[in-house]
Amino acid sequence: MGSRKRSARQRRVAEFKAGLGGLDDAYGQERRRRDEDERRREAARRLRSCERKQRYATRYDAEEAMTRCAEHGARDLRCYRCPHCHGWHLTSHPWE
Ligand SMILES: [Zn+2]
Repeated sequence: MGSRKRSARQRRVAEFKAGLGGLDDAYGQERRRRDEDERRREAARRLRSCERKQRYATRYDAEEAMTRCAEHGARDLRCYRCPHCHGWHLTSHPWE
């Protein structure tokens, strides 16, 4: 009888610990999901502001290209130093 009680208690302890493990894992999963979201957003930003764009090695090259674009009617362009590739890109968006 005594040993049966003990094993029931051990089972409850095991279940309790498994429950805690489950919570830890739920927290881990949530954190991983957020990291993944952030990584995806960063990749999308990078694609928009860097990888899809023409890259210029120097500000001078970028400004020259801007001048050519202006001659073809592109207005309100500006250039910026890219934090991803450290080259220069042109943009017409004020927030880039
Ligand atoms: Zn870039």
